[in-house]
Amino acid sequence: MPAQLINGKSLSATLRQQIAAEIATQVGKGVRRPGLAVILVGQDPASQIYVRNKSLACEEVGIQSFYYGLPESCSQEELGALIEQLNADPAVDGILLQLPLPKPLDASRVLESIDPCKDVDGFHPYNLGRLAERRPLLRPCTPRGIMTLLDSIQTEYRKKHAVIVGASNIVGRPMALELLLAGCTISVCHRFTQNLAYFVKQAELLICAVGKPGLIQGDWIQEGATVIDVGISRLPDGSLRGDVDFESARMKAAWLTPVPGGVGPMTIAMLLRNTVEIWQSSATFISTPQFTGTEGSARRC
Ligand code: NAP
Repeated sequence: MPAQLINGKSLSATLRQQIAAEIATQVGKGVRRPGLAVILVGQDPASQIYVRNKSLACEEVGIQSFYYGLPESCSQEELGALIEQLNADPAVDGILLQLPLPKPLDASRVLESIDPCKDVDGFHPYNLGRLAERRPLLRPCTPRGIMTLLDSIQTEYRKKHAVIVGASNIVGRPMALELLLAGCTISVCHRFTQNLAYFVKQAELLICAVGKPGLIQGDWIQEGATVIDVGISRLPDGSLRGDVDFESARMKAAWLTPVPGGVGPMTIAMLLRNTVEIWQSSATFISTPQFTGTEGSARRC
């Protein structure tokens, strides 16, 4: 039987409606809107589209987005000064730095200068460290979105061998930490992994985040596996393709995310969710609840 598709688009739409309702309720009581600052350095066309989509998603749910476009020639110090200003701005709950940065800017240095409490992408070493030591606060959006997708199909984490292909700071590594926290046994594959097919065949839960279209072939996939395809590559004909060969994988997997319409919309939903959770925990939020976003993780290992 062909795999069932995990519909990230529809789950994301439901989550966005919930977020919009939460914001509207509080704004109706006189609370200020949540605010997200989005910084784009340079003119990379793909980054411009991502930033526009994120800003539109914010506006749709009632988050105020503040856009800062800096020229490619901007210096590390100018970028640092903007971050300092946003760190101090009470109307800004979250700060998003669109990556990659043009050379020679040092993204790690900039990310580290963001107030960890406003680190809406969860990339600050403090937040990654919290995730590593099983006390997550702000969690990176793509892995968090994948966990939400997996929760939606009642994944039994503690019994699963999860294989993550790709070990980047923004997807593969935090994904491994999330799944370890959830109780999976994990293997992480990367560029130097010998015999990738062997590892993929061991996966009951497979997460692919490489950016090489069709890298994972269907006959590598274990019968009945859950397969999450994070990769998005644009082919010369303009279509989008994941890392997994969709048609052949569909004949082996039990669950599979499509590209597009799988992980991508969940990343944006988690960006909105993280922004709202920071807002709810901020000093300017009247009748402040405790930080709630990570309690779902505490039930894990
Ligand atoms: P990245 O920074 O380029 O990382 C790719 C990772 O894959 C690296 O760890 C790399 O190893 C590893 N790799 C390269 N070739 C490999 C191979 N043959 N076998 C196994 N591993 C290999 O990319 P990223 O930012 O993580 O993104 C990965 C993909 O996900 C891209 O297509 C991106 O567009 C997509 N993405 C989607 C979303 C979404 O919301 N849907 C979000 C983020 C990213 P080395 O480190 O050794 O080079």
